[in-house]
Amino acid sequence: MIEQFAKKYGLPKYRINQFNQKYYKEYISSFDELTTWPKDLRENLKLEIPFSKLIYQSSDVSKDGGTNKVLFKTKRGNYVESVLIREKERNTVCVSCMSGCPVGCIFCATGQMGLNELLDEQQIVDQILFFARIFKKKNEKISNIVYMGMGEPLLNLKSVPRSIMTITDTEKLALSKRRVTLSTSGYVQNLRTFLGKKLGVKLAISLHAPNQKLREMLMPKVSKKNSIKELFEVLDKYTEDTNKRVTYEYVLLRDINDSVIHAKELSKLLRNRLALVNLINYNENECLPFKKSKKTKLFQKILQENGITCTVRKSYGEDIKGACGQLSVSRDEC
Ligand code: SAH
Ligand code: SF4
Repeated sequence: MIEQFAKKYGLPKYRINQFNQKYYKEYISSFDELTTWPKDLRENLKLEIPFSKLIYQSSDVSKDGGTNKVLFKTKRGNYVESVLIREKERNTVCVSCMSGCPVGCIFCATGQMGLNELLDEQQIVDQILFFARIFKKKNEKISNIVYMGMGEPLLNLKSVPRSIMTITDTEKLALSKRRVTLSTSGYVQNLRTFLGKKLGVKLAISLHAPNQKLREMLMPKVSKKNSIKELFEVLDKYTEDTNKRVTYEYVLLRDINDSVIHAKELSKLLRNRLALVNLINYNENECLPFKKSKKTKLFQKILQENGITCTVRKSYGEDIKGACGQLSVSRDEC
């Protein structure tokens, strides 16, 4: 955004550097604090560029204090949620790339909202800056970003890659690429396009089923047009080219995808692939019929016995509906 402004006013590069330093590194809380710029230039900036495109609404902190879910509104009146997850060794911001999501996976609360709005680059970065500004006062830093909030990142290819560039640009937010993870439900062609940009961030695939039939039931919209077979063609090429491991997210739904047979089938599917399975305990939602599985440990054991690296994701902020797949602006009824 600053680049366009600089171009319009014919500003020299050092003015952009000054801006980046204050805005992305010192996390100023208004353009008035951009004191390295002359006042008249600052005033023009204030007139032409919004300091933040998201309007803060409210915030919920989990009982254990580890998770903070924040609700924002866009100019068009749509709601967006972001979550900060605090751990000993890292502070992660889970960002949204849309308000709602058009993919409609049947177990996901966000998916039930449909799509309200795609977020632009600034709106995605605004979510991170919001937490960074709070953290500045506590002398803490954000260390990780996950694109696991509302929305499907690969259906917002205009803004998501640009936001990643801002996050990882050493002159801007300067986060390491290895600390940014994009999670996708698997749009094959868009995944190809995204990987072609070689942004170097980590990749997580929402697999959730070990076979095409079950995946079509759970994620009908994306998986009917993007088969597991086609998905692996792209992913295998990616690991061949980069030698990077892919994370497979697998949400365990009671009596649906959590049996011993499913675990064996998943092991077979991922055998000889550079893969990490991240099992997710389902976060229940009163509007959806699915239940948490009781077989997480057994499922993990079977995968490990079959040589598949497997972790169970810690769930945060369940009491404030700030956990994965619970991001949906509360409605009075289902
Ligand atoms: N749209 C992207 C990223 C956002 S969802 C994607 O689907 O990958 C982030 C993760 O949370 C996905 O793996 C998603 O399948 C999972 N998820 C959705 N609903 C959930 C729920 N109720 N409980 C636990 N995980 C859920
Ligand atoms: Fe959208 Fe991801 Fe939820 Fe599916 S799981 S509806 S892709 S946010």
